[in-house]
Amino acid sequence: MTGHYILAVDQGTTSTRSILFDQSARLVAVRQHEHHQHFPRPGWVEHDALEIWRNLCRMIPETLHDAGIGLDQLAGVGIANQRETTVVWDRRTGRPVHPAIVWQDTRTSAALDAMAGNADKVRELTGLMMATYFSASRLKWILDHVPQARELATEGHLLFGTMETWLIWNLTGVHVTDVTNASRTMLMNIRTLAWDPYLLELFDIPSKMLPVIRPSMEVYGTCTGVLEGVPLAGALGDQQAALFGQTCFDAGDAKCTYGTGSFVLLNTGSEVVASDHGLIPTVAYQIAGEDPVYALEGSIAVTGSLVQWLRDGLGLISTAPEIETLASTVKDNGGCYIVPAFVGLFAPHWRSEARGVIAGLTSYVTKGHLARAALEATGWQTREVIDAMNADSGLTLRVLRVDGGMTANNLLMQFIADILDTTVVRPMMSETVSLGAAYAAGLVVGFWPDLGSLRRNWHRAAQWTPSMDPVLRDREYANWKYAVTRTYGWIREPEPE
Ligand code: ADP
Repeated sequence: MTGHYILAVDQGTTSTRSILFDQSARLVAVRQHEHHQHFPRPGWVEHDALEIWRNLCRMIPETLHDAGIGLDQLAGVGIANQRETTVVWDRRTGRPVHPAIVWQDTRTSAALDAMAGNADKVRELTGLMMATYFSASRLKWILDHVPQARELATEGHLLFGTMETWLIWNLTGVHVTDVTNASRTMLMNIRTLAWDPYLLELFDIPSKMLPVIRPSMEVYGTCTGVLEGVPLAGALGDQQAALFGQTCFDAGDAKCTYGTGSFVLLNTGSEVVASDHGLIPTVAYQIAGEDPVYALEGSIAVTGSLVQWLRDGLGLISTAPEIETLASTVKDNGGCYIVPAFVGLFAPHWRSEARGVIAGLTSYVTKGHLARAALEATGWQTREVIDAMNADSGLTLRVLRVDGGMTANNLLMQFIADILDTTVVRPMMSETVSLGAAYAAGLVVGFWPDLGSLRRNWHRAAQWTPSMDPVLRDREYANWKYAVTRTYGWIREPEPE
């Protein structure tokens, strides 16, 4: 190994970041670039994959320049990426044949409803629910709607990838996907870690266009161009990267990333835990030559975005952190509960026909109570997911590691510790997604020797311990659950395409 730094690329939903870490896992330089969000129709969300690639090409030299280092100082590069977003491009030109279809896009909802008869088999093979969230239905949509796409794909001219595949191909010319991303496509068998013939036939996908599935940690190739000569040595889906960056390496370790939405991942070791409670088994990571490590995931669609709604939709606050000040003007929620089922409910309910409610309104309720109820909504949604995890895994969570923008909120973090009856801890390094990508690549090239050395880099910045009266906790949880039932069944007809 030569080089004193690892470069992490965090290709997110709204922006891409290029971050340089040193051997103590300290952040040395960072550059960030937003890309455009395209909404061509209601429910459709697209990205320009070339724009994302060009942004990255601009940012990498800037990051190195900021740190005052050259390419020879880089030991390796790792990628973390928004998951499930689907890109198809022509290998002869390198140009996408359609804009990338983003994980939030719901255009394939009716098509999936029509395949409902296959849901059990798909679940058995992949662990996933038949939801628009995953890539397969979007890939099929592109093949069905872009002129000649299916013929070109069958002839071997078109390539499919999620975002890490697209970036790895552009950086190295190699067409591979990491196994964690592949586990979100709905085309990979979660036990054999291979593309599954039944699923390829069901979604009518030509196998020639699929990338080779590789471990998350392995040298995929040597970069050319902006990263000339640097080994590309790791890739993970962003939530898996956060789990890895939080050093949740043992079965029973869990983290929650609190951002726009929130994602709880529990390491379940070498076992695929099939969920009976609305969670998703997923691949957490795989080191080359070793068995995969699995996780159970609870995805919550709306948490930080509810705070944004209080700010932008209602004008109750002017910045996100102000919600804590406003919520602190009252001692409790005043009997009010907000269930933010803005896009239906994800884990553990998976109710696409649900819509949001504010329950328990009386003239006693003030904006302070609304602010508190909005924060509590994030807490209760976490509690529902953790309850499901404990039930599925038979383990009882002892400590929850947290990261993401909402963890700056002390009132919320204390509330979460209280209602989970669990200690909540936040590390000094909050950039866990990028750190996970850096760790993946760094382990491969020998920049860090082993998992133990990564664990030693984890330093606690804050801790919250539970102190709530159990009777109050149970009563509040019962009220929340009752409020959730009020969201069900609101959408009574399919929404127009
Ligand atoms: P993402 O990576 O999903 O863009 P971030 O981790 O950057 O999200 O967190 C941003 C989200 O956190 C926003 O939705 C914002 O409303 C919320 N947020 C930021 N600061 C606070 C705060 N102090 N209290 C509550 N929510 C916050």
